[in-house]
Amino acid sequence: DLQALHRTLQELDGQGYGGYKRLRGTYDLGDFRLRVDRVQVDPYAPPSRMRAVFSPGTLGLPSEATADRERRVATADYLARRFHSAASNGHTSPGSAPAPAPRGRWGNGGSGEEARAVVAYPCGQEILERSTVLIDDDRVEIRFEVGLPAAGRRIKGRLADRILTQRLPAILDQALTPEHRDDPALLEHVRLYTDQLALQSALTGRGLVAFIDDGAILPRRSGDSPLPLTDSAVAFRSPPSLRTTFELPSGRTVTGMGVPDGITVVVGGGYHGKSTLLSALSSGVYPHIAGDGREWVLTRDDAVAVRSEDGRAVTGVDISPFISGLPTGADTRHFTTTNASGSTSQAANLFEAIEASASVLLIDEDTSATNFMIRDDRMKRLVPDHKEPITPFVERVRPLREHTGVSTVLVAGGSGAFFDVADLVIAMDSYRPQDVTRKAHAIAADSPWGDEADASDLHLQDVAPFRARTPRIVALGSLAPSSKTKPARARGRTEIQVGKESIDLSAVNQLVDAGQTAAIARAIEQLGNTGAGNGSTARNMALERAAQEIVNGVRAHGIDSLAGASEEHPGYLVAPRQQEIQAAVNRYRPLKLANGSR
Ligand code: ADP
Ligand code: MG
Repeated sequence: DLQALHRTLQELDGQGYGGYKRLRGTYDLGDFRLRVDRVQVDPYAPPSRMRAVFSPGTLGLPSEATADRERRVATADYLARRFHSAASNGHTSPGSAPAPAPRGRWGNGGSGEEARAVVAYPCGQEILERSTVLIDDDRVEIRFEVGLPAAGRRIKGRLADRILTQRLPAILDQALTPEHRDDPALLEHVRLYTDQLALQSALTGRGLVAFIDDGAILPRRSGDSPLPLTDSAVAFRSPPSLRTTFELPSGRTVTGMGVPDGITVVVGGGYHGKSTLLSALSSGVYPHIAGDGREWVLTRDDAVAVRSEDGRAVTGVDISPFISGLPTGADTRHFTTTNASGSTSQAANLFEAIEASASVLLIDEDTSATNFMIRDDRMKRLVPDHKEPITPFVERVRPLREHTGVSTVLVAGGSGAFFDVADLVIAMDSYRPQDVTRKAHAIAADSPWGDEADASDLHLQDVAPFRARTPRIVALGSLAPSSKTKPARARGRTEIQVGKESIDLSAVNQLVDAGQTAAIARAIEQLGNTGAGNGSTARNMALERAAQEIVNGVRAHGIDSLAGASEEHPGYLVAPRQQEIQAAVNRYRPLKLANGSR
């Protein structure tokens, strides 16, 4: 209990840092139990992992906030934000950019040490399932880290005592009281989230891929900020022909632009907000917090942004509908490379997205390979089709839609090539969308793109290029290479280290939180272990199924399940999508397939 904790810390005062190990265990501190999960080995190691465990009665969370899984996700997200803001003395804005917990800044006295000792995990703009707060039937846990103080390598026991028995309870007090029984902000957060999910899951039934409400603020403060642009932002306003209304479970109605199924092309002058619109759609796979500006920008949750990414590795992907007859003679039905070009990487990204069950693709000209997207008449005359390995996207987007049902939203401000194939053409004009479909179709009818006669005679053999794709079977054992001595581990948002290999995720834009990357590292670890044994015992599995199993596991058993049987709390994890788990595996250079690459 409290006295025992006081006593231990008094005794430890002045001793060698290793003595802190004695702290492991659980202490009853009145309102909550403090559990010390893991103690850092020295002052510069990552801070110690701890949690505060409450009985649900103490917190008085209303049933509206905990009745089902969705509500518990929202409530946990809310409490994580409250805790983070209290631990930072209110110094952080609610939507500060997610970053990994600071490391190695502890010890050696110094002012502010006490104030900084309790490290809360950050939260970004998205409402997501996080390991920071666990809400169960019998308990609520807040997880965090504490930098245990030292002078040199000597324990500062009295300061540690103040941190754990005064500072921490004060933070918890500030974060969790007044009692949440009737905290309007909590209930508003829960209603927002449940409404957002309701809207998102209603999209498909309404024949839409995405929705943006009138009044939404799409632009961000700067290229590296997730926060809304405030001063000069032009609020979104739907064109009348696309305007639609949703009635949501809380009774709220929202009106705005529905982006229909099919092929939508976004045009408009440079700097008129095309890319901003597309990024908003791409982030709309996740619900956003109040005040973000994109609260009612929601896209089907399986949508994937597809871009070119030259230099990435590709393992056994069938990109033949776009690329065949490479000068190297490589078989593009099982395309493998350690260094993809702009166009081959974009083709691989596209097919991997489809393999990951994406029903919507989001493509921006700014991040696309031009030769992947279009090929004009003059070039066809200079370089005949049989010398050109690439069939451009403009010639494939229709069959893609018709054979697979996959929709595409595409930004193309530099070419009218897509007018013919577009179901809908939206023009951005000073940040306001207009429906210009009719005009664009009239122009297309007037001056057809390309010479209809020679419309790829060459590719007639694959009139159904998107049918019957064979899923790739991954040798899961290849995710646990023998060179690996430590578990797979995330470095920030954009990198995962697996043995000697590093997976580069900087082009995977819909990975939005370092905690998701950490969770994917755990997932890779799990998949690698179940597939371990190299050789005959190795387990092989369709990549999509493997990723789905991970996501289903998190759904059924919570995000802690990614940490396996560990007694320690798992640190900073945020639920990833199936699509980003697959994206990470796909970028792992030593990936081995059990089928495909002959
Ligand atoms: P495009 O892709 O059409 O060239 P961008 O989407 O890149 O244009 O936007 C150009 C600039 O305009 C960016 O700095 C962006 O932040 C800003 N912007 C985009 N939409 C809005 C808006 N609704 N209100 C104010 N500024 C915006
Ligand atoms: Mg742009």
